[in-house]
Amino acid sequence: MTLSLFSGWVDAHKDQIIAETQAVLRIPSVNEPESIGPGAPFGKPCADALEHTLALCASLGMRTENFGGYAGHAEFGPEDAPEMVAMLGHLDVVPLGSGWTREPWGAEIDGDWVYARGASDDKGPTFAALFGAKAVLDSGLPLTRKIRLIFGCDEESGWECMRHYFDVAKQAKPDLAFTPDAGFPLYYAEKGSFTLTATRPIGDSLVAVFSSGLRPNMVPDEAEVVLIGSADRLGYIAKTLKRKQTFKVTDEGDKALRIWAKGKASHGASPQKGINAAKKLAEALFDLFAEPWLSELVERCATDGSGIGIAGKDEITGPLTCNVGIVSVLDGTLSMTFNVRYPATWDDSVLTRAQASLTDTGWTIAELHHTPPLYVPQDAEPVKTLLKVYRGHTGDMTKPHTMGGRTYATTVSPNGVAFGAGMKGDPDVAHRPDEKFSIERLLFCANVYADALYQLANVSR
Ligand SMILES: [Zn+2]
Repeated sequence: MTLSLFSGWVDAHKDQIIAETQAVLRIPSVNEPESIGPGAPFGKPCADALEHTLALCASLGMRTENFGGYAGHAEFGPEDAPEMVAMLGHLDVVPLGSGWTREPWGAEIDGDWVYARGASDDKGPTFAALFGAKAVLDSGLPLTRKIRLIFGCDEESGWECMRHYFDVAKQAKPDLAFTPDAGFPLYYAEKGSFTLTATRPIGDSLVAVFSSGLRPNMVPDEAEVVLIGSADRLGYIAKTLKRKQTFKVTDEGDKALRIWAKGKASHGASPQKGINAAKKLAEALFDLFAEPWLSELVERCATDGSGIGIAGKDEITGPLTCNVGIVSVLDGTLSMTFNVRYPATWDDSVLTRAQASLTDTGWTIAELHHTPPLYVPQDAEPVKTLLKVYRGHTGDMTKPHTMGGRTYATTVSPNGVAFGAGMKGDPDVAHRPDEKFSIERLLFCANVYADALYQLANVSR
């Protein structure tokens, strides 16, 4: 491994980097609607994480600004420079889900790992960049462009953070940027993405309540249903399901039955790696009482998008994926939330096709959020510089990737790409129980990101 310009600084500040990363990991910054208030559009914990991080940056000698709790930035370098380099990271995290064996807000260190929700996605990598920036600041080396660290608080939910930052607060788009929210070497293309919620009435049904999923971008790992009907029918259903190990059945008094199914969580960008608990439960229910909406629910859950008529692929980013992240039935209405990632070279006619597939069969579109794809040619900046930096540090000549997930890079298209912090062979921990980040990686990233920010701040283009 090559020594970088900044490795001396990172070595000398190792303890501080680790301790500050632990400190931010202890803030439970899940989007929390109950505590939304002034300056806290995503709830208090997210606002706390942002304030905490900006206060840290200010104490490190950077100029900071908080944009209403949606997002904030810390900046240094020549104030009047016409151009700006940025790192974009997010401080919000997905909900815990089930299955933790570690204290999720403990930031406990065990061997080379620090355990916490958000350790790898994305507070660990973001703080590596924060301290990488501090290393550049402390070096006193001249900068042609100013350097800005942009922190968002709604990456895992509605992306209101970046919409507010760029569209409402009218902050300039960076001229060159990266987001440490994926993997090395870097990702030069990202699929387009949309989240669509649609509803339809289900008519007379045994199902009084159906509930599954926490976020559009997670495969639901639990689903629950309450059936209301005659004691005979429910008795038969309970008996049949109790033989299947993966369903939990409890009587809820006279004419009600509660059934719980377990699936397997996975990131919404790779729904085929998980087991959708809502789909699994609907399949089992359909076998027991063939209400047509249950089989429709199952079909709509196809992870290749065929359930809403949009399956397909391109050469650069591969097949479209579709995750049904939230399913509910309440008051006779079925609601499904689809999180779709479509090939980077497609246009937005895919949205029209998805909507038509639903509205043509009696569904109502309740909500739609769209993020267009990202594509930066491999011979353009910042790809050239970031690849050079990564290769200089590792000797690893792996070709850059494309991805189905989407990152903040799409918001600064085509000036930014995702750069780190995952590497081949890492355990798949994002959005899962016992999320963790390697301390060695944290320090490696501080070095690499310091170099990246410094080189991008001075590269001619
Ligand atoms: Zn992330």
